[in-house]
Amino acid sequence: MRRTAHIRRPGGLRIPTALAVAVMSAALCGCGGAGGEPYTGELFAMDTFMRLSAYGQAAEDAVRAASDEIARLDAMWSVTDADSEIYALNSFGSAAVSPETLEIIAYAASVSGETGGALDITVYPAVRAWGFTTDEYRVPGEGELREIAPLVNYRAVKTDGNTTALAPGAAVDFGALAKGYASQRAAEIFREHGVESGIVSLGGNVQTVGRKPDGSPWNVAIQDPEDSGRYAGTLKTQDAAVVTSGVYQRYFESGGKLYHHIIDPSTLRPADSGLLSATVVAENGALADALSTALFVLGRESAETYWRNSGRDFDMILITETGEVVITEGIADAYTHENTDRTLAVLAVP
Ligand code: ADP
Ligand code: MG
Repeated sequence: MRRTAHIRRPGGLRIPTALAVAVMSAALCGCGGAGGEPYTGELFAMDTFMRLSAYGQAAEDAVRAASDEIARLDAMWSVTDADSEIYALNSFGSAAVSPETLEIIAYAASVSGETGGALDITVYPAVRAWGFTTDEYRVPGEGELREIAPLVNYRAVKTDGNTTALAPGAAVDFGALAKGYASQRAAEIFREHGVESGIVSLGGNVQTVGRKPDGSPWNVAIQDPEDSGRYAGTLKTQDAAVVTSGVYQRYFESGGKLYHHIIDPSTLRPADSGLLSATVVAENGALADALSTALFVLGRESAETYWRNSGRDFDMILITETGEVVITEGIADAYTHENTDRTLAVLAVP
């Protein structure tokens, strides 16, 4: 197995993936008894800590296989690892890529098309200009952003057979949906192994398989975006992904202003849509992740319009700057409103 890739840890320390996998193995605990304790694995990949737990006889094999798959996707899609497919694509402007890469590009493009480009994998040169790739944060100048603007266009990503090509100077990054794609793969691998109960948390992207071993639903906490010591609410779920994009996940301060890492492709600045966070609940993890980013950029009104008209099957929890928590009807019974300093509104299907 190829384990030469490098990944970035918080604080910019770079460690070889082989070491990350060794750390993961050491963290695996051999306790996969049916109905008893879960078998749990931890790894650092896609720039975040990940935790995978499964119950039952196949738990250990399932967790190991899913962890290997996530490490493989990470090595393929890292924007900083010189061995990755995306590094080659961004460096040379064109590269032969694997089927999963073609799939995620096509998937992202479909969500981009539906959301008026609120999700756009070609926004990467702007993400880089703000320093979110290296953690060397800075506020880029007007002129710099103006030069980047023509490069941001998901429609300019072309595929011919297994070769993908970008416009000259353009670059892509799957950061907005890679973790969701990975959690979706992990859930599929759990099911292929016969796991009926499991949960993966990829840096806040949660995806559940089945119910808890005792038959009750999983309970997923929704972070309060303005108080890290508090939950906005909790959500009972089964066989679903729960993914949040928020202002609090990665940001820096400059001149008394906070700048977060979700960039509005139409301004190339941190999205300022009136939302503090957008959580999407969907069966498919990749959809939940792609939409969490897109709806955060769109803001409350446009997110509601999309929810009503897209034909996509999902629910959402939007937390606004004005103190509201807006949830959709499909999860109204499953949601417990914890932070009562915020008002709760439920969007009903007409
Ligand atoms: P997180 O990665 O914290 O879970 P997101 O899923 O919202 O949050 O993804 C944010 C990441 O996606 C950013 O760090 C950046 O790499 C990339 N990104 C930022 N804005 C956009 C956007 N509008 N479209 C596509 N990718 C984006
Ligand atoms: Mg996302």
